[in-house]
Amino acid sequence: MHCLEDYRSIVGDDVIAGIHAKARGLLGRRVLHINSTYQGGGVAEMLSSLVPITNDTGVDADWRILFGNTDFFQVTKKFHNALQGGPIDLTRRKKEHYEQTNQAFASWAQLDRDVVIVHDPQPLPLIRYFKKRQPWIWRCHIDLSAPNPALWDYLKGFLLRYDMMLVSHPDYLHPDLPVPQRIVHPAIDPLSAKNIELRPAEIDRLLAKQRIPRDKPLVTQISRFDPWKDPLGVIEAFKLVRKEVDCRLVLCGSMASDDPEGLVVYEEVAKKARRLVESGDIILIAQDSPSAFINALQRASTVIVQKSTREGFGLTVAEAMWKGTPVVASRVGGIPLQITDGETGFLVEPRGIETTAERIIALLRDDGLRANIGEQAREAVRGKFLTTRLLDDYLDVLATVL
Ligand code: UDP
Repeated sequence: MHCLEDYRSIVGDDVIAGIHAKARGLLGRRVLHINSTYQGGGVAEMLSSLVPITNDTGVDADWRILFGNTDFFQVTKKFHNALQGGPIDLTRRKKEHYEQTNQAFASWAQLDRDVVIVHDPQPLPLIRYFKKRQPWIWRCHIDLSAPNPALWDYLKGFLLRYDMMLVSHPDYLHPDLPVPQRIVHPAIDPLSAKNIELRPAEIDRLLAKQRIPRDKPLVTQISRFDPWKDPLGVIEAFKLVRKEVDCRLVLCGSMASDDPEGLVVYEEVAKKARRLVESGDIILIAQDSPSAFINALQRASTVIVQKSTREGFGLTVAEAMWKGTPVVASRVGGIPLQITDGETGFLVEPRGIETTAERIIALLRDDGLRANIGEQAREAVRGKFLTTRLLDDYLDVLATVL
């Protein structure tokens, strides 16, 4: 487990001293994070590094998981999609599943902390089932720029009880919600198994273990099998790319336990890619991959793609940038905050199959361009998107609500 001191050589003395100075006024205060999965997806990824280093500052941080059954997660995935603008039939049955799971959790969980931070929509209603004795914060990681109005109105019923809402992008702020709101950008942990430096021999070993051939450049998207991540669009773009440059596509997606859509989308992708999978031109990985393998894959890839049509903030984008691997990503949600087009990566329109292919081809053909973009990308992440900055932001938030 890492302590703050371990990050000093990466972010410098001033950042570490600044964090300790902010924590000084909060020593011994107890914070609880609640989300709905311990693995798969960006929230679990962030909490697993944020919680230990918060503890290292002298602020007590804890993390609990809201348990739910398949029905519950089917409903909350529909909510997730509708919050990102999709349609929803907001039936009484869906609301009942949603509320009852939260109520059940509240009947046995004790939340005797100084601040409760609830992540994403799954545990949002918890606040209704506890006697409120402390500030509650809702941290929303998804794109809230155009939520389905009926769902938003329903969720507001819970949200109005909160003391603050945190979002990842200015476009996700909601003037119609009379609750204080702040922007906090997500971040990655440079010392986690997902992001730590790897020796070339280790990268080779990890890829060989998963039987990923290295005879051609790898173009890779690492994302849950989710319609918003547009894996079918990636395949379309790849087909154009391979007419120009011989390369291989890797689509790697774990199945998050709170995302029941994964299997359906995976099957659709497998069907569409069948011929290219058989010929070995496309490699599909649909299982929980060890973090070290994802790390190696991001480093071994020549180009990383993130062709999302909605993206609250792409952790995978920051992860690849930190490794100096150039990224071609859609200009959606939080991604333009992460990538400066043409400097730290390339932004493409979300429906732009051809431009996506053009950018990938340009990068595959030009070693100098890749090196230059990769170098600038790494420095951009060092400045803005490492977990120490996330901790610093949370300390500000705690100081405000306490
Ligand atoms: N991830 C992973 N294995 C996979 C796919 C994704 O470990 O097969 C990780 C990925 O490296 C990143 C997180 O899951 O850390 C996804 O976060 P992101 O913000 O990109 O997307 P989300 O899943 O939260 O929508």
